[in-house]
Amino acid sequence: MNFFDLSGRVGIVTGGNGGIGLGMAKGLVQAGATVAIVARNEAKSQQAIQDLERLGGKAISVLADVAREDDVASMVKTVVAKLGRVDILVNNAGTNIRKVPQDLSLPEWHQVIDTNLTSAFLCSKAVYPEMKKAGGGKILNNGSMMSIFGASFAPAYAASKGGMVQLTKAMATAWAKDNIQVNCFLPGWIDTELTQGARKQIEGLHDKVLARTPMGRWGHIDDFAGIAVFLASSASNFITGTAIPVDGGYSVMG
Ligand code: NDP
Repeated sequence: MNFFDLSGRVGIVTGGNGGIGLGMAKGLVQAGATVAIVARNEAKSQQAIQDLERLGGKAISVLADVAREDDVASMVKTVVAKLGRVDILVNNAGTNIRKVPQDLSLPEWHQVIDTNLTSAFLCSKAVYPEMKKAGGGKILNNGSMMSIFGASFAPAYAASKGGMVQLTKAMATAWAKDNIQVNCFLPGWIDTELTQGARKQIEGLHDKVLARTPMGRWGHIDDFAGIAVFLASSASNFITGTAIPVDGGYSVMG
């Protein structure tokens, strides 16, 4: 038996058209799953589909704003209509607005919380009936080092990522009886569009991350292929409700 085989499985990756989500989608298709890339930018999603097909993978694009309940409902409907089932959900879409708490407006707070945390609630709730019907499923939630540590410039982001860990535990306990495992992974500092923005805004960030990361490098999106396959496959069938750092040792550095 190959514990990591995902042949015949269908996965949804929100924010899968770039960055960490694309790295995870690459892992899932290479293990045999068919993947629906869910994001708002169609051109970027088509590029991602080509990248996945170049690896021999099968993937479709479904456009949706995952912070909107109506978009999420029609996205799941489309995936089921086109691919027949949902076995894996990666709640990865995310954003940040870097401001100290006293400068963050309420609409900005909602934008970050809705994109990062409410979206995970909406997407998980929407796929639950499909996973139940299929006899089980795997939900992977993207947290952050800010699920653990504070950051002066990220009040809404840190709240959303702390919330992601607790939402993971709630869903894991609620849906264990349905054979749905729900886990969170906590990326360290990864080289993506999101952190290219951070490096411009926060002086010295690049070197600070290098100095604190025992493995001495920023993460690459391909570093997320393995955790995607592990948490989406039968290899992790008795693991639920956890938060696993994928951070080159950042979180254990004293
Ligand atoms: P990117 O900016 O490269 O990716 C963000 C993705 O989210 C894009 O695919 C974007 O697609 C999608 N997205 C954003 N808003 C929405 C929305 N409303 N509806 C649908 N899709 C949306 O950044 P990363 O890859 O770095 O970030 C991915 C996740 O990883 C985020 O949750 C982030 O918080 C988390 N993370 C990243 C870290 C890092 O160091 N890079 C560290 C810790 C966590 P589109 O614009 O087309 O909609």
